[in-house]
Amino acid sequence: MAPQPEVFCEEPWTGLFSVNADGSVTFCPCYAKVRIGNLKDSTIQELWNASELVEIRRSFVHGVIPPQCEGQLCPVVVNAHSPTVDDSEA
Ligand code: SF4
Repeated sequence: MAPQPEVFCEEPWTGLFSVNADGSVTFCPCYAKVRIGNLKDSTIQELWNASELVEIRRSFVHGVIPPQCEGQLCPVVVNAHSPTVDDSEA
């Protein structure tokens, strides 16, 4: 298996959450759609520090695409898996 390219996404630090009518909160609502809790049960601070979101941040700090993001068609993941042009061959 080829080594995974180093990759970083700022979404876990700066991105929007979506809040659904039932109070459930989703991180990265456009792509990964990770459920991180419910506003009926948790504060914003608790949701911000939800274990799944912390794990996603930790993965990006180490330059690795987290499992929740792998296979998504967002620009970060698509670019990470796109072939690169080797300038030395030009
Ligand atoms: S799915 Fe894409 S945009 Fe969303 S957090 Fe993961 S890498 Fe970032």
